[in-house]
Amino acid sequence: MIEIKDKAKCNGCHACVNVCPTDCIGMVRDSEGFLYPKADSDKCVECKKCEEVCPVLNRRYENPASRQEGFAAFALDETLRLQSSSGGIFSLLCEAVLDMGGTVFGAAMTPDFKEVRHISVNNKEELALLRGSKYLQSTVGSCFKEAKELLLSGKPVLFSGTPCQIGGLYAYLGTDFDKLYTVDIICHGVPSPMVWDKYTDFLKSERKAEISDVFFRNKQSGWKTYSLSVGFSDGTRYLKKFREDLFMKGFLADIYLRPSCYECGFKTRLRQSDVTLADFWGIQDIMPELDDDRGASFVWLHSEKGEKLFFSAEGKMNYKELDAEAAILRNSASIKAAQIPPERAGFFSAIKTSPVDKSILKYTAEPAGMRIKKKLSRIKHRLIK
Ligand SMILES: Cc1cc2nc3c(=O)[nH]c(=O)nc-3n(C[C@H](O)[C@H](O)[C@H](O)COP(=O)(O)OP(=O)(O)OC[C@H]3O[C@@H](n4cnc5c(N)ncnc54)[C@H](O)[C@@H]3O)c2cc1C
Repeated sequence: MIEIKDKAKCNGCHACVNVCPTDCIGMVRDSEGFLYPKADSDKCVECKKCEEVCPVLNRRYENPASRQEGFAAFALDETLRLQSSSGGIFSLLCEAVLDMGGTVFGAAMTPDFKEVRHISVNNKEELALLRGSKYLQSTVGSCFKEAKELLLSGKPVLFSGTPCQIGGLYAYLGTDFDKLYTVDIICHGVPSPMVWDKYTDFLKSERKAEISDVFFRNKQSGWKTYSLSVGFSDGTRYLKKFREDLFMKGFLADIYLRPSCYECGFKTRLRQSDVTLADFWGIQDIMPELDDDRGASFVWLHSEKGEKLFFSAEGKMNYKELDAEAAILRNSASIKAAQIPPERAGFFSAIKTSPVDKSILKYTAEPAGMRIKKKLSRIKHRLIK
């Protein structure tokens, strides 16, 4: 029976929940807002499938056969590109699978914008729900089981998610399928849904209105200086650049990532997915001809299936091959786990009694010397450009 003794050893992928033959495992939120499995000992038959399937306990992090091809790319459809976090390549890959009569699994916000859950879509209209990065951990639910049923009936499936979710899917399936396409992301780490929950309550109380839409990667002020955009029922909008928005500041300072993110073994070059997608940070240095600050994806292909899927979108994108290593080295989250900041424990203790804005502000405040140093470095970078 699965029992989580060390939270850093559970990424919340739901493989154990999906594999349990008696459905005795539920996911329960801890005080930080992250989900962990909890088995009902009355229903458990001690088959140990939950422990055997766990990709972390069994250190199933890599695919030794993983290929390393790199491309810079963006969708030619400008609307789609602006609605996407980087170059919109995710939507093109999904469209290809939908055209085959397949199903796409990915992360969507719940209608109240409080949580992110994995869902399946079968048509291009619904694909909009999966578009764009949502910066909180997505709940997989029974999606591994649903994907397996579709694959066993011969249907194509594209499953997208964080590298640990893709690791969980393969651990659950136990094998690859010809018609399974997996797409992961270069993942900074997943922030606490509890912090987001409190943050949205804070934004709502400031506006005295309900939330009507959320987009974490608004490109109005440019892709490289993206903003968090939140629409309200009174027609107003909150729009703040990621460096100025409190939630994004705490997320990018690694203050409230899931404990397992600090020990993530899935951040490897030998990815299990067919395709890894990321922001092509540093494109202005490597391929300035493809940089118009409206978003470019780094497409990292690992298999023949991934390559075929990518090229099936050939007429719908602008792309150029590159040495994958050049993009990997410019993307700090590609192969290195975040470091646990010393402020993390203090933050989670503060947020129990203090308002979310004040807690984030307190634990992300930089000493004045550091702030000035960073500002000077940004100015220097701009001048060099
Ligand atoms: C939590 C998180 C952290 C990220 N960290 C980095 C990073 O450090 N560096 C980097 O270069 N890129 C990072 N990305 C990936 C990047 O933001 C884009 O998602 C990626 O470049 C694909 O963009 P796109 O324009 O092709 O399509 P988009 O439509 O923007 O792609 C959306 C993709 O993200 C998935 N997704 C969205 N939210 C979640 C979620 N909560 N959980 C699981 N999957 C989700 C969707 O299923 C889909 O695969 C991160 C994404 C997320 C969700």
